[in-house]
Amino acid sequence: MLPRGIKQEAEKVLLDYYGAPAGIEGSSTLGGGSINAAFRVETTEEDVFLKCNDVHSYPDMFEKESAGLSLMRKTRTVYVPEVIGTGKTHSHSFIIMEFIHSGMRKDSFWDDFGKNLAAMHGHSSKMFGLDHDNYMGSLVQSNNRHQNWYDFFILQRLEPQVRLARNSGYLNQGHIDQFQRLYKELINIIPEEKPALVHGDLYSGNYLITDSGTPCILDPATAYNHREVDIAMSTLFGLFDDRFYSSYNEESPMHPGWEQRIDIYNLYPLLVHVNLFGMAYLSSVERITRKFSQG
Ligand code: ADP
Repeated sequence: MLPRGIKQEAEKVLLDYYGAPAGIEGSSTLGGGSINAAFRVETTEEDVFLKCNDVHSYPDMFEKESAGLSLMRKTRTVYVPEVIGTGKTHSHSFIIMEFIHSGMRKDSFWDDFGKNLAAMHGHSSKMFGLDHDNYMGSLVQSNNRHQNWYDFFILQRLEPQVRLARNSGYLNQGHIDQFQRLYKELINIIPEEKPALVHGDLYSGNYLITDSGTPCILDPATAYNHREVDIAMSTLFGLFDDRFYSSYNEESPMHPGWEQRIDIYNLYPLLVHVNLFGMAYLSSVERITRKFSQG
């Protein structure tokens, strides 16, 4: 059941979007989300998807999600659900979007996914970052802009998470020293690229297969970043098919050796996992910093 008060506020959002009253007739809970409560909501117009959370803990989370989804959707590359609107009650904030009916992968699913993601990454900006901060999972992701990717990655991605992990006691001075050494190595490891519009949290839980068998991406942590961050994240939890990578590379080849660089980019989501879920992810962080800091 939808939390109290959401029905009324959601119907206002639906009215704005459809230009006519769209009454909510029922709802069912969906599993699978890590942070928010998710629902399939039946309306007199069509079924929609609604996610909600505590308005006090994450006051602007869904406005940020909406902005990220819209930015990606505008590229008309990988399919992204249309946002219907966002709203608030005294206790909850929520987002309503197009409901994606799931289907079976069509044969070209992975080829389409790779090719279309490469096309999305072709959308560039003058600087790395974004005009607003957003969220990675439930942690604030700072997107202050930088001309230079190395500064962006260190100052806006790794350092805020390193600081948080240090303050929580997960990282000690030895870890910090290794990170400092790794920062100096980055320029020798990561090839320069122009800023690319990335999803930012592209693991296997953040795509769906639509009822026409095509990929649909969700739940982004969008920014203009090095495009290889999405490729790296796609290998982190659950595998994407090899055809995804070959099709991506056919469309827009990565510099040779991309497989060896994956670990570097994944330091960021791994640190986020340390900060959100604790020590279990620390050994992966240590393995990577050791490997690349030569310490
Ligand atoms: P969270 O923000 O908590 O991680 P998700 O966005 O992953 O939540 O969504 C929770 C569940 O709802 C997942 O099982 C996901 O596959 C499903 N889902 C997400 N967006 C849609 C959508 N637009 N249509 C249908 N199902 C969706």
